[in-house]
Amino acid sequence: MTDAIDTAHPRTALDVLQHVFGYDSFRGFQADVIDQVIAGGDAVVLMPTGGGKSLCYQIPSLVREGTGIVVSPLIALMHDQVSAMRELGVRAAYLNSTQDPVERSEVESAYRRGELDLLYVAPERLSSESTKRLLESGRIALFAIDEAHCVSQWGHDFRPDYLALAELAERWPDVPRIALTATATEATHKEITERLTLHEAKHFVASFDRPNIRYRIDPKGEVRKQLLSFIRNEQAGNSGIVYALSRNTVEKTAEFLVQNGVDAMPYHAGLDARLRAQTQARFLRDDGVVIVATIAFGMGIDKPDVRFVAHVDLPKSVEGYYQETGRAGRDGAPSTAWMAYGLGDVVQQRRMIEESPGDLAHRRRLSSHLDAMLALCETVHCRRVNLLGYFGQQSGPCGNCDTCLEPPESWDGTVPAQKLLSTVVRLDRERRQRFGAGHLIDILRGKRTDRVAQWGHDQLSTWGIGDDLTEQQWRGVIRQLLAQGFLAVNDDGYGTLAITPESAAVLRGDQTVQMRREPERAPRAARSTGN
Ligand code: ADP
Ligand code: ZN
Repeated sequence: MTDAIDTAHPRTALDVLQHVFGYDSFRGFQADVIDQVIAGGDAVVLMPTGGGKSLCYQIPSLVREGTGIVVSPLIALMHDQVSAMRELGVRAAYLNSTQDPVERSEVESAYRRGELDLLYVAPERLSSESTKRLLESGRIALFAIDEAHCVSQWGHDFRPDYLALAELAERWPDVPRIALTATATEATHKEITERLTLHEAKHFVASFDRPNIRYRIDPKGEVRKQLLSFIRNEQAGNSGIVYALSRNTVEKTAEFLVQNGVDAMPYHAGLDARLRAQTQARFLRDDGVVIVATIAFGMGIDKPDVRFVAHVDLPKSVEGYYQETGRAGRDGAPSTAWMAYGLGDVVQQRRMIEESPGDLAHRRRLSSHLDAMLALCETVHCRRVNLLGYFGQQSGPCGNCDTCLEPPESWDGTVPAQKLLSTVVRLDRERRQRFGAGHLIDILRGKRTDRVAQWGHDQLSTWGIGDDLTEQQWRGVIRQLLAQGFLAVNDDGYGTLAITPESAAVLRGDQTVQMRREPERAPRAARSTGN
């Protein structure tokens, strides 16, 4: 045998770690996971992004006889991982839909001849009978199921192909399986175990805390300016990622930052693949580049010194927020997760859920994800306690988030809530008309706009009863009522507001509403954007 890494006698895991990967020692419970799989046992590994999951299956694949079959849903990532493995001298290949038949058959014969240490396979391939027959024609060291949370129908990344992976256990009962994910709610953990029939597996659950990340959520005003001053005042010259929901926002934000002297670049799925690759390469190579991106960016990107992650739009779930913010500070140095969040985010997302295709159960699921995200935004307690609690992990106040550092006050917002809700009830009779938050606030504050005059809304009994609060404070009230489920967004496509079954108790005075006091430092909201 000529292959450099294949000449040795049976190697130990530590040998492989040091001589193939060039690291001194294992991290966390990597060694325990690896021992379990090398010994032929199953494993379920929950470890945050950047924790070092890949070695947990790569090393056993090299130590055990045969080829490690890695199921991975991200084709782009597969390619990167295989290249990285090859550079280390590991015999790795992949099978996915981007290959031409010649390439594919070369990989297949290499597998049959036992010349592969690792074979990455897209989940949809693995459910085909021809792929299974191929696998039977060689020797399998283990199955690694990466991004295992994709099997969860309750999760944010569900992939139907993952459900078929349960068959692996039936067809190859003697091959160890290892499922890995960075998503660790108790529900997801249970679903992975059940659906992939990993009942005999050992479970390895790492702490999800990222103590070097400071969490901060500011009320949204003129968000681009807020972002710019965050970068200028706190992150000048640092590498960072800014997440936005739409391509349009990505481009506008990147443009704005560039005009203001920040070395920023846009990244989204609508851009040419070569340009995207260049952008990514620059981000990895140069210091101080800021990428403004949709969630398309970041999966599998391994840059240790990302100093900040900023969100200019509200993420759709806590899992998403955790994963995205987790790309900051992998080197352990102090880093910041900054987000601006406002009424417009809540209205927009509630509306998107109302309009989303799919059945009621699906919409409820999206809604519960959003509710958890809103609870994190509106909490008056430690952000980290809330975040880790979401992943089933108990902790105490962290001292490294905005609410720990500057505890917000809470106040009894029942009376303003009643004023607002009764205005909504009164406008509800004119439901066909589009009255959004701005118009409600104009009525409450007694502002005589054209619209108010046109509809005679200065005749309403709630006209002008809310001039004790500023416009921005009213926006905060509406946002928090939406977050707490006392207000809803109509599915009329205009983001108009409606009361909910829960509102009745507030209107009757049977239910009080606690609110978070907005820090005064936020710039005034721009009316026209709905933020
Ligand atoms: P995950 O898949 O959990 O997000 P990775 O497997 O990509 O994490 O690992 C994250 C980074 O940590 C990689 O750069 C990897 O090479 C590095 N790493 C993993 N384990 C070790 C170790 N034992 N010693 C040093 N570096 C490690
Ligand atoms: Zn805290």
